[in-house]
Amino acid sequence: MRYQISLLSIFAAIAVFLSGCGRGQLHKETRLLMGTYVEVISYDARAPKIAFAEINRIEMLLSKYRADSEISRLNSEGKCRVSRETYDLLSRCVEFSRLSSGAFDITVEPLVRVWGFKDRNFRVPDAAEISAILPSVGSEKIIFHPADNMIEFSVKGMGVDLGGAGKGYAIELAARKLKQSGINDFLINAGGQIRCMGKGPGGLPWRVAVKNPREAGTVNNLQINGGSISTSGDYEQFFIYGNNEKRRYSHIIDPRSGYPADSGVASVTVYSPDGLTADMLSTAICVLGKEKGEALFEHFPACRIEDLEYIPKQEGRSTKED
Ligand code: ADP
Ligand code: MG
Repeated sequence: MRYQISLLSIFAAIAVFLSGCGRGQLHKETRLLMGTYVEVISYDARAPKIAFAEINRIEMLLSKYRADSEISRLNSEGKCRVSRETYDLLSRCVEFSRLSSGAFDITVEPLVRVWGFKDRNFRVPDAAEISAILPSVGSEKIIFHPADNMIEFSVKGMGVDLGGAGKGYAIELAARKLKQSGINDFLINAGGQIRCMGKGPGGLPWRVAVKNPREAGTVNNLQINGGSISTSGDYEQFFIYGNNEKRRYSHIIDPRSGYPADSGVASVTVYSPDGLTADMLSTAICVLGKEKGEALFEHFPACRIEDLEYIPKQEGRSTKED
């Protein structure tokens, strides 16, 4: 029997197989956290509570929708002292931005906002608006003060958005908490970001189904022997706009052009031993496209692409107003 998780599979195009016999009973709980459905499955009944508590703690630090989170304070004040944890996470994101030649960049925040993806009030900004924002985008414009964990924006109008990294980070930390509690068989699925360890149904490796973004009913089954997989694409959050020629505007934005990613990658699923790297890689590949995306793995030898759906631009995909 294949067990499909209703809303989760709609949002994330990922379903977890729960078939199998023997090895006791699997416990599964789902909760709305970090703006998505988070599901925890384990033979140990303590697992969901432990994982949810940790993910909730991370949400409090990072959410752009909570005025009291460290990220919201930083975005509104432009200079802010943060916890060591947030400081280190921001440093890791900035380092990844450098490795991805700026394709992944958490300072994309003002662009995410102007395209209406923050409040879901979608709009197509004109070229002048985008050009006016671009000087406020770029990780190199964040100043780090290690002595007191101070983060400072060097340009007015800057902001950070951890939408492309936060869930991966949260599931990584939740996995660590589970291991610390002696729980070694679990799967956490945070809206398409998966982190698992040990054995799944029937004492076999965990298996998930990644749905094809455009062809209903087509799936790619993956077996995961621990670690993380992350799926990003233009099918989860986008809007379509236009009279004669309708265009699809993805929520993943190319921070260098200011326009939604238009690389031809409709969906990509990446494996990494850790959740944060998987999350950032999948977002980056949507911006970079297939070839440049593959070249990125030079820096990440333990990671790989599991699945990539490429839809050429001429098939009416996307974006830039050229
Ligand atoms: P999801 O959060 O739906 O799993 P991703 O992990 O790919 O998808 O992250 C997309 C989110 O990351 C966007 O909604 C936005 O908040 C943020 N984002 C958009 N473009 C970029 C980018 N180029 N680099 C980093 N973050 C981005
Ligand atoms: Mg991501």
